[in-house]
Amino acid sequence: MTPLEFDQHHLWHPYTNVAKPGPTFRVSEAEGAWITLDDGTRLIDGMSSWWCMLHGHRHPVITKAIHDQLDRLPHVMFGGLTHDPAIELGRKLLDMTPPSLQRIFYCDSGSVAVEVGMKMAVQYQHAVGQPQRTKFVTIRSGYHGDTWKAMSVCDPVTGMHHLFQGAVSVQYFIDKPSVRITDDWIEDDVQNGLAQLRQTLERHEDIAAFILEPVVQGTGGMYFFHPEYLNQARAICDAHGVLLIFDEIATGFGRTGKLFATDHTTIEPDILCLGKALTGGHISFACTMTNDRVALGIGHGEPGIFMHGPTFMANPLACAAAKASLDLLSTGEWQDQTRRISDQMKTELAAAHTMPGVADVRVLGGIAVIEMDHVVSADKAHGLAKETGVYLRPFGKNIYTMPPFICSTEELSQISAALLRLAGEL
Ligand code: PMP
Repeated sequence: MTPLEFDQHHLWHPYTNVAKPGPTFRVSEAEGAWITLDDGTRLIDGMSSWWCMLHGHRHPVITKAIHDQLDRLPHVMFGGLTHDPAIELGRKLLDMTPPSLQRIFYCDSGSVAVEVGMKMAVQYQHAVGQPQRTKFVTIRSGYHGDTWKAMSVCDPVTGMHHLFQGAVSVQYFIDKPSVRITDDWIEDDVQNGLAQLRQTLERHEDIAAFILEPVVQGTGGMYFFHPEYLNQARAICDAHGVLLIFDEIATGFGRTGKLFATDHTTIEPDILCLGKALTGGHISFACTMTNDRVALGIGHGEPGIFMHGPTFMANPLACAAAKASLDLLSTGEWQDQTRRISDQMKTELAAAHTMPGVADVRVLGGIAVIEMDHVVSADKAHGLAKETGVYLRPFGKNIYTMPPFICSTEELSQISAALLRLAGEL
């Protein structure tokens, strides 16, 4: 059996059918914006490896931080013990995130960060005498991960809730905000969607929190909505004793052109979930941050302890990688980089507006999307990767890129040419 045959017969890949495994490339190494295949082909990673490889692959500052940490303390349990990488990362996170978020819970992956955030909300409500508040409201077309509670707040259609009926918790869904980030805000609550939120919170006293991806809905459709929706949603949540959870796993760390999507708003969430680019994509890690109201609310309630504690909580290698990645962000270079990505993509993708089959073209920060009027095939895009020299993995109707911030002008041009070619051929 060749290595690829072994892979096809034994290794499950994301969202695949083992009876009909999709095409797969064998990657031998990666550096900067580039991944190298076993046959020597080099492809630009137009996906930043599912949106996490912010500063490029194998960044020397991050790999050195991991190597140094490996030589001292690769792992130790976090129960009753602590270490400098966790503390230093914590200080850095507090410097960068909204000031009210003073408590950090480290965990393993984005989905777990969402589980932790949802659990915090339920435990807080229980602690403050609202034990009936165990459910969640969210907007349609969202995506929050593949674990059970996270899945329950993913879009009910694309998240295929019907497949898991009876197993996945039933939550409240309202329409996604109708006003786009590029449009003028509409002050009419029925039109902008806030009336639905208000009505849902008025009618149902079993809601613990409103959870959503702020400003950019990622996997659910690459939709960019108006931040004013979030400002006003905050007030509605407050009026009904409902917490506000922002899932910034995809949007965090500069991707939308602001350090956090929250920075497009004038408010702060009660709970913030971070992951993906937290370590510059070099190692799996995530965290859930919250304010003192929630943390101390839980602490002063019964039983007081927060009921979560993963084995690899605050893994020192991951903390060291994350601290190094945040140090790179602290230089502020990401601002010029994302501005350059967005300016260049806007110019180079302008041609897509008039192409047949294209429904919309949109760019925000380091995200560029060509939305088609039909569903496109990721497998066909895979087939074109070696010809375009760019690895892209469209989903649904969206052909998109979230390039590493370090991409050069030439590399970005190669990505936009690939996007246009895919839009023409898929
Ligand atoms: N939330 C959002 C907004 C995401 O985009 C993702 C991953 N695409 C997740 C949660 C889940 O993260 P992970 O895949 O690390 O579990």
